Amino acid sequence: MKILVLNCGSSSLKFQLIETSPDQIAANQDQQLAAGAIAKIGGADSTIAFEAGGAKTKDAYAVLTHKDAIAEAFKLLEGSGAAKLDDVEGVGHRVVHGGEHFTESAIIDDDTVRRIVAASDLAPLHNPHNLKGYYAAKALLPKATHVAVFDTSFHQTMPPEAYIYAIPYLYYTRDKIRRYGFHGTSHRYVSYRFAYLHTATRGHYKLITCHLGNGCSVCAIRYGKSVDTSMGLTPVEGLIMGTRPGDLDPGAVMYMVGRAEMGLHEVDVTLNKFSGLYGISGTSNDMRDLLDEAGKGNARAQLAIDAFCYRVKKYIGAYFAALDGADAVVFTGGIGENAAPVREKICQSLGSLGIRVDAAKNQAAIGVEREISEDAAPTKVWVIPTDEELLIARDTLRVILKIPHP
Ligand code: ADP
Repeated sequence: MKILVLNCGSSSLKFQLIETSPDQIAANQDQQLAAGAIAKIGGADSTIAFEAGGAKTKDAYAVLTHKDAIAEAFKLLEGSGAAKLDDVEGVGHRVVHGGEHFTESAIIDDDTVRRIVAASDLAPLHNPHNLKGYYAAKALLPKATHVAVFDTSFHQTMPPEAYIYAIPYLYYTRDKIRRYGFHGTSHRYVSYRFAYLHTATRGHYKLITCHLGNGCSVCAIRYGKSVDTSMGLTPVEGLIMGTRPGDLDPGAVMYMVGRAEMGLHEVDVTLNKFSGLYGISGTSNDMRDLLDEAGKGNARAQLAIDAFCYRVKKYIGAYFAALDGADAVVFTGGIGENAAPVREKICQSLGSLGIRVDAAKNQAAIGVEREISEDAAPTKVWVIPTDEELLIARDTLRVILKIPHP
C-alpha cells in the first residue's frame, strides 16, 4: 500500500511516500519512494527540496500557506512518477500532542479532530499546524484514510507515580498538568528495531532508549511499554538539549521573573531558544561545532558537552532503578547516531551497571545499526538510527488494516 507521511510544522512541511505491507514490514523491506521538505512557508524565499528515484532537486520560490505547500508536494510526487495521487490509500499525519485520550494511532474523523483541537492548549505551537496539514491533505485526497500518529501516545502507559507533578492535584484534574513525554515515535521505533535485530519481540526486553538530537529525551521501556520518559508537560523538561535547559529549578524561573524583571515571553524564549548547549557554550547548539571548539581548547564548549553527557548519564542511572535493571541502552537521533565521543563520555564509569563500551566498535558506529558494547558486557549498548516517518507509515497501514502492534 502506498502511504504518504506528512509532518507539518509552523512554517515547514516534510513528506515521504512509502510503500509498505504486512509482508514488507515483516521482512523490513518497506520502500521509500520519494521524500521532500518545504521550509519557510509563508515567506518569499521558501525552499523546496525533493528526492525521488535517486534524482534530487532544490528550488526556492514563495509558498504562502500550508495548503499551497501540500499542493506543491503533491505536484512534485505526481511529476516524478513516484505515485499517482489516486494510488495513495493512506496518509499518516504526525500529531504532536494527543493528550490523555490517545494511547495509540487513530483514524482521523470528526471526534479525533475535536480531541486534537482540545489538546492544542497543551501544544499550541504544534497541534494547530498538524491539523492544517490534515485539512489540506483531506481536501486533495478525500478517498484516502487519514491517520494521526502522536508523539505522546507511546508514553500513556507511564504509571501515575511517573507522570504526576507534586503540585496541588487540582492542576492535574482541572488543567491536565502532568508529564506526557514526547519523541514517542522514535523511542518506539528503536525498540522495535532492537527486538527485530534480536529476532524477538519487544515483550522480551527492558530498554533505556536515548534520543539525542536537537531535542533530547530518554525513555525507560519495560517489555515494550514506556514506563518513564524525561520530557514532561512540555519538551523543556529532562535532558540538556540544543537550546533548552532540560531540568531546571522552577525557583530559577521565579528569580528571572522577579529579580531580573523578565517578562513571561522573554523567559519562554530564553528557555526554548537560548538555553541548553547554546546557552552554556555561548557559541553553538550544534554538537559538531562544540566538539570542534572543545578540541581547540574552548572551555565553555567543553563545559556544555560535559554537562550534556552528565545529565544523560544520570537519567540512565535513574532508569536502571525505575526498570530494576535493563538489557540494553540504545542511542539514536543526530547526536546519538553519530557522535562517538559523546556516547563514550556518557557511558564512562557506568561499569557498575554492566555498561562497558568497546572503543573501536563505538568509533566505527556512525549512522549505522550496531552493537558498541564489549562482547562480555552484561548490559548491551546499541546505536540504532531512528526513522519516525517509517513508523508513521507502518502505523497508518496497521490502523487501516486493523492489524495489532507486534
Ligand atoms: P532534530 O532533533 O532537529 O531532528 P537531529 O536528530 O538531526 O535533530 O540532531 C541534530 C544534532 O545532531 C545536532 O546537534 C548535530 O550537531 C548532531 N550531529 C549530527 N551529526 C553529527 C556528527 N557527525 N557528530 C556529532 N554530532 C552530530
